[in-house]
Amino acid sequence: MKPTHIEHIGIAVKSLEEAIPYYENILGLKCYAIEEVKDQKVKTAFFMVGQTKIELLEPTSDDSTIAAFIEKRGTGVHHIAFAVNDLEHVLEETAQKEIRLIDQHPRKGAEGLNIAFLHPKSTGGVLTELCEKPQE
Ligand code: ZN
Repeated sequence: MKPTHIEHIGIAVKSLEEAIPYYENILGLKCYAIEEVKDQKVKTAFFMVGQTKIELLEPTSDDSTIAAFIEKRGTGVHHIAFAVNDLEHVLEETAQKEIRLIDQHPRKGAEGLNIAFLHPKSTGGVLTELCEKPQE
């Protein structure tokens, strides 16, 4: 698979409004985008650190997977996203290695990226996202 870098780290928060001041005032990062991803029932806030982003995820509904995560494990690191090339092919290869895929095919995530998740049961407990910049 050979990821090129960590694209972002996803962090589950109860409220963007309450979480953002830590990232801006203590870490000194600038929130450059807030975006709602309707089919994932989350509102996201983005910060850039080098070539890696921090993605804060606030549930917009009680049946959001982020709401379930917070309920079960509390707020904190939710997933790690690796940037890869040719995501469709990477998913095929990964499935052949007996890794459980949450998404069999790439779908649209925040910022227009093509994304797919690997099941934490197959990754030592770390929910893993793979993402690829769509071809222009
Ligand atoms: Zn993500």
